[in-house]
Amino acid sequence: MPLTYWLETYGCQMNFAESNAIELDFAKAGIIPAAAPEEADIAVLNTCSVRQTAENRIWGRLGFYQHMKNERKITVILTGCMAERLADDIKKRAPAVDYVVGTNEKQHLLEIIQNHPEVHEEYDFMTSYKGKHPSKSLLPIMNGCNNFCAYCIVPYVRGPEVSRNPDEIIAEIDELQRMDVKEITLLGQNVNSYSYELSGKIVTFPDLLKRITASVSEQVWIRFLSPHPKDFSQELISLIGAESNLCSHVHLPVQSGSNTVLQAMKRGYTRESYLNLVSSLRAADSAITFSTDILVGFPGETEKDFEATIDLVDRVGYLDAYMYYFNPREGTEAMQMDGHLADEIKLMRLQKLIDFQRAKSLKIKQSRIGRTERVLCENYSRKDPEKLLGRTEHDEIVLIDDANLTTGSFVDVTISGLTGTTYKGETLCPGKPS
Ligand code: SF4
Repeated sequence: MPLTYWLETYGCQMNFAESNAIELDFAKAGIIPAAAPEEADIAVLNTCSVRQTAENRIWGRLGFYQHMKNERKITVILTGCMAERLADDIKKRAPAVDYVVGTNEKQHLLEIIQNHPEVHEEYDFMTSYKGKHPSKSLLPIMNGCNNFCAYCIVPYVRGPEVSRNPDEIIAEIDELQRMDVKEITLLGQNVNSYSYELSGKIVTFPDLLKRITASVSEQVWIRFLSPHPKDFSQELISLIGAESNLCSHVHLPVQSGSNTVLQAMKRGYTRESYLNLVSSLRAADSAITFSTDILVGFPGETEKDFEATIDLVDRVGYLDAYMYYFNPREGTEAMQMDGHLADEIKLMRLQKLIDFQRAKSLKIKQSRIGRTERVLCENYSRKDPEKLLGRTEHDEIVLIDDANLTTGSFVDVTISGLTGTTYKGETLCPGKPS
């Protein structure tokens, strides 16, 4: 009987991409997925440490595996950021865990399972990260972060920035194209600070994008996640405007609209430079849209600072935003700062921000009805399998009532309505992909 595994992934897109790579590695070694954790020989938990709630959930899962381990044999492996951050604690508090595997070791799980562990000081990229989705793929191009924003645990658990060899990236993209993948998302904690020395010359993020766009067909969309506003060069801005493969949508984490708070967070930009960047991107590409991350309730944030965030949200007009409140993480600079706010204040501000952003984005979305957009068909609707769900290059979800289309095809639609956050799309030439 082949060995079976159960893999649980928590947290960011990078974790999901790395889990894809672990699954490919296991498949090559003949280790197959189990139908349920109760049937697995090996359980792998790829964890996240960014927020306390994520860690609490994982402690709960470890209780579940402890219970299982009392009944039968199972190897439990904890990897990812929580494993890196709390290795000693986990060994003491969770005897169910057989192996605690740090972020640099994650790519070598198979060696660990097969009892050939080596010490890997530096992060190694895997040869492929292709997941199960037939037409989309995540593609890590760099790992780690050198920025040490005051609230963030990532540089401590992921380590310093390491970029992937551009030749390997292009080889993987060629392979993804052969598999008919239509949308590739380049990933990195600080993706636009990508930098790799090749034959004595530094390959920058714009250099890499040029190589990628020259190597893909017209029918491939390229996205990247998450760029840092301070690392946007003019060359990158111009490229986004010029290259049709690059999606006309940028996720641009702002975190706060107040200069005092941005400085305390150590973000490395001001509200003015952020707004200038938005204007420059709009000048380079008039169709461009934005989404963002916003953190409210940072230590010392005043009502005036918070209002500056609301004002910035109003000025930019994001299609979408991931909004959260400050939750101190042990080991970060912000944990030691004065001026921590009461939970009621943080929650009240968060709710106010969510209400404002939702109302603003609803207006923007309504104003976009009537456009013609190209949509990549992704899945059949679960509610109505005759209909297809797809996304525009602006990352908007569109429901298309055309049973003759297939997943993985591009189709031009007229956006004819909006229900919640999902658009309705009418195909221009029914049944025909573009
Ligand atoms: S740029 Fe800042 S928020 Fe982003 S991963 Fe690095 S330290 Fe964290």
